[in-house]
Amino acid sequence: MQDLERIVQEAVALFASISDPAGLEQAKARYLGKTGSLTEAMKALGKLPSEQRREAGRLVNEAKDAIESGLNERRAAIANAKLEGRLAQEALDVTLPGRGASRGALHPATRTLERIERLFRSIGFEAADGPEIESDFHNFTALNQPEHHPARSMHDTFYLKGEGQNVLLRTHTSPIQVRYMQAHRERYKDQASMPEIRIIAPGRVYRVDSDATHSPMFHQVEGLWIGESVSFADLKGVLTLFLRRFFEDDSIRTRFRPSFFPFTEPSAEVDMSCVFCGGDGCRVCSHTGWLEIAGSGQVHPNVLRHCGIDSERYIGFAFGMGPDRLTMLRYGINDLRLFYDGDLRFLSQFA
Ligand SMILES: [Zn+2]
Repeated sequence: MQDLERIVQEAVALFASISDPAGLEQAKARYLGKTGSLTEAMKALGKLPSEQRREAGRLVNEAKDAIESGLNERRAAIANAKLEGRLAQEALDVTLPGRGASRGALHPATRTLERIERLFRSIGFEAADGPEIESDFHNFTALNQPEHHPARSMHDTFYLKGEGQNVLLRTHTSPIQVRYMQAHRERYKDQASMPEIRIIAPGRVYRVDSDATHSPMFHQVEGLWIGESVSFADLKGVLTLFLRRFFEDDSIRTRFRPSFFPFTEPSAEVDMSCVFCGGDGCRVCSHTGWLEIAGSGQVHPNVLRHCGIDSERYIGFAFGMGPDRLTMLRYGINDLRLFYDGDLRFLSQFA
């Protein structure tokens, strides 16, 4: 039985010298396979006299256990070494700064619109909404621009085909006002009087125009205040207050210049004192001291009539301005196209 001890020692030494799983299984066969040396020793047991067989059997089993446990240890060691190697290879340096997902931010045009809505809400105006694809009626006719009205040519827009009626991309947000007035009139038709309408109509509008200060898609904010005694003084008060708050400058002055719009009568262009030079004259205001900022006027009786509102009883004003221009003035940007190029170097400055 000296042989068994030698076999075990030899096996363990052999296993230790092997470092790949396949080689280890081959080495195992040399001892425990069909013709392995330990298998042979077990076969030999049968030839022993029965009184020796029991003791010899125990020793052979011990040797077999020893070889198997040596084998298992080596298997585990090889697997472990493989894992360690892989971990070393795929090591993560947890001290590296993370790449992180960059946070998005609102577009400057959106920020301005939200700011405008907030300011008007604080003085009792609600923000109304409406479709960007409009009917010819809501965009023109209801606003006192019947077919062949010359003002329509100033609004060269994008017409859509085949809807049965004339459908177009709205050229201003005034259709929102029309829809709001119609719905408001409908809601209070059974009552003796109609509550005042105080809304702003912000949104995207479209015209066939493209250069440094015009984009085929741009934004507009219009305002409407209709009641039984709303005057031009209220209009001036609202716009002056709004501009002072928007530019955070209480020294801003406004002035009205007579103008023409089909949907208001009388109509006026609104200028504000230049926010860059305070009215002294500079390059931005073409040395006039004034910046043209809005169109406005008293709502034309025809518009009220188209919306089902009694034009003898109700009166009010409307105004419209370009929030893109307000944004450009506020941030000192000189090319409108920068807003829509999608260049993050530009846009991230407003984040
Ligand atoms: Zn100026």
